[in-house]
Amino acid sequence: MTNEELKQFKASISITAVAQLLGVQVVRGKCRCFFPQRHVHGDRTPSVSVSEEHGYFRCWVCDDVRGDVISMVQLLRDCSFVEALDWLMAQFPFLVPKTVKIPTASASTGAKPRPAPVMPPPPPVEKPKELIPEDERKKIILSFLKRLSPVDNTPAAAWLARRRIYKPVWDKMLLRTIVNYGDLNRQLRDEFGEEVLKYVGLYNEKGNLRYYRYPLIFPYLDPQRRSWYFQARAIDSSVTPKEMLLRGTVPFPYNVSALDGKQGWVYLCEGCVDTLTFIGQKINAVGIPGVRSFKVEWLNLFKNKSVVLCLDHDEAGRSGMEYIGKLFSQAGIRSIVLGEGLEHLPSAMKEGEDINDWFGGKK
Ligand SMILES: [Zn+2]
Repeated sequence: MTNEELKQFKASISITAVAQLLGVQVVRGKCRCFFPQRHVHGDRTPSVSVSEEHGYFRCWVCDDVRGDVISMVQLLRDCSFVEALDWLMAQFPFLVPKTVKIPTASASTGAKPRPAPVMPPPPPVEKPKELIPEDERKKIILSFLKRLSPVDNTPAAAWLARRRIYKPVWDKMLLRTIVNYGDLNRQLRDEFGEEVLKYVGLYNEKGNLRYYRYPLIFPYLDPQRRSWYFQARAIDSSVTPKEMLLRGTVPFPYNVSALDGKQGWVYLCEGCVDTLTFIGQKINAVGIPGVRSFKVEWLNLFKNKSVVLCLDHDEAGRSGMEYIGKLFSQAGIRSIVLGEGLEHLPSAMKEGEDINDWFGGKK
């Protein structure tokens, strides 16, 4: 089969039909993950999106559960690319290009009762060895944050002001910046040692503080305004990616204090900058680092809230909002998408815009 024929063959097969043939139920473009053991509650709320239009599937949690019809067969039957292709040709002989001979071996397999899908064994869970106790790790992060400077009169302040995020917000959210990278790098190494700092996630493999090009630091404050988690931001527009998360699990959404258990609305947005933009407008908001980082165990934090979903107005943001909206509705939490039904208004967010753009921030 030529590449072109393979492309046509794949495009003509319904990925939903393939999933069903393999015993996976797809409901409104969603199915449970093939590795439910990796998910909270065995993935009771389906995490895999199946796009009929693009012939593609993707799990929001497992990075390795994604691909086209062939990858789906490979994953569920634990077989090679060629075996998966043969199997598909046997299932859909009428779609096979005329020039291609359907392999007889698999054709006969197709006639037999279908064997139950073979699940590959889950990958062994690697438990990283604990160099220092978790409490100690948090203390070191806190100690790092305490050594940083307020952003006032630094390049980070100018960067924030261009985005219409001003001093009351800097102070409220304890925004910090690295003024003297060299000194900080040395101080930390002298006090804690390279090995521990690498373990904690502050130092890279070369043994230096990670945030050389990411001087703006957004600490994630808990309701007592303590912090052991943060996100770092580049302020030079040529640096990509723009943001760097501390390694490890995100403990809770940014500005979690907005989730106070009282009745009311909260805006859920993507990234710290959008969250800070809302805070500056005195609007209750929390942030998640990216559309795929929302965690099911955070749902109970949203108790008594109604949620306005304000992820970026692009393809990823939209499918993220659909996914998160479904999670909320299953947890009995009301959610709406910002601007839905108002697209015709001149004030509506444009394609590709984020909250900060919408409020007039300059990049
Ligand atoms: Zn998964």
